[in-house]
Amino acid sequence: MLAAADILDKQAEGLGELITMEMGKPIAQSIAEVHKCIKAMRFYAARAEEFLADVPLGNPGAVGASRAWTRYEPLGAILAVMPWNYPLWQVIRFAAPALMAGNSGLLKHASNVPQSALFLDTLFERAGFPVGSFRTLLIGGPDVAAVLADERVKAVTLTGSEPAGRSVASTAADNVKKSVLELGGSDPFIVMPSADVSQAAATAVRARTSNNGQSCIAGKRFIVHTEVYDAFATEFVKLMSELVVGDPLDPATQVGPLATLSGREELAELVDDARVLGAQVLTGGTVPEGPGFFYAPTVLAGLTEEMRIIQEEAFGPVASLYRVRDREEALRVANQTSFGLSSSVWTSDAQEEEWFLANLDAGAVFINGMTVSHQELPFGGIKRSGFGRELAADGIREFCNLKTVWKA
Ligand code: NDP
Repeated sequence: MLAAADILDKQAEGLGELITMEMGKPIAQSIAEVHKCIKAMRFYAARAEEFLADVPLGNPGAVGASRAWTRYEPLGAILAVMPWNYPLWQVIRFAAPALMAGNSGLLKHASNVPQSALFLDTLFERAGFPVGSFRTLLIGGPDVAAVLADERVKAVTLTGSEPAGRSVASTAADNVKKSVLELGGSDPFIVMPSADVSQAAATAVRARTSNNGQSCIAGKRFIVHTEVYDAFATEFVKLMSELVVGDPLDPATQVGPLATLSGREELAELVDDARVLGAQVLTGGTVPEGPGFFYAPTVLAGLTEEMRIIQEEAFGPVASLYRVRDREEALRVANQTSFGLSSSVWTSDAQEEEWFLANLDAGAVFINGMTVSHQELPFGGIKRSGFGRELAADGIREFCNLKTVWKA
């Protein structure tokens, strides 16, 4: 694993260019993605043994044993169905723990990032893993069911849309195999009066537009207390409208094109639906002329229940602003979607912080900061954002047989 990390390290810039060429994120973010992978690989290389160590039962006499313990064993070949938004990171955050646990990996990557998929195909063998430890399958979505049904494949992990997740998880269930699903999100970003409003606004812009807005854990709905709404909205809209949109290979670019034409069309439809039903477009809301699937960074306000964007995920640089009277209304708006991935709360009131922590329907709460995935922290959602966890100790244990041992 360390040797595989070194391979990435030696060609971080070239791999960054490959990512940008395939899916359009700004080059600095692509290179940062490669470094994030390297860190996670080194993390699991260093920590896997500790995460997978036997756990002895303190009082074996209670179960009539002289000793009792649990151990983690690999399951075998794990299928990973992965998306294009972080072409290397999404795969590495599965592969690093899975391989360190002694599993092998089969990758069905998104069809629009074949070069990244082929790079990953040989990475682990080049680093010295046994032949066949990790393989890319250049197949389409409809071919996944047959692979998953094969008795040599023991489990599946999928990151992507809800329809893809539902289809793959039901195939897994039909075959009585475990699945981990990391689906979409429409994360709330709540700003209360005691927050540092200008820091919240600047962070909100990064949260919403990083990766050209195509991140499951992006803050997408900005829920702001009425006392600070005007100050936040003014700053947020100003910063969103000043973003440099353009060629993602140009280091000055902050927002590049969306990855696919269909992605842009779906995003434009969501905005148009809201606009027709009376939403205010505070900035953006336009498809720029010329080549590339660009969409202008956009802020919407005045949203009402019948608009699709209230419930659906905006997978691009489109932010929704909500004005709320109090913390109860903030929570109601935050929890009103079918998603439950992550959340962000801005407050300096300890009691309020605890109240949101206890009541937000989400797999994570970030306080006074934006959601970022870290290899040290478990990552995953509830509700229709999926189930199971990636990263940290929990992630490496997902694809293990937890074997219980009892000894007379
Ligand atoms: P998809 O869910 O369609 O694609 C993700 C992966 O699943 C790809 O490898 C895809 O393969 C595969 N796939 C799709 N349908 C099936 C199926 N029925 N059975 C097996 N595998 C399948 O995502 P899209 O690229 O179409 O993006 C659409 C939406 O998905 C976004 O708007 C966003 O909401 C969400 N999404 C969420 C991501 C996240 O990080 N949580 C990442 C990407 C998307 P193929 O490419 O060959 O179709």
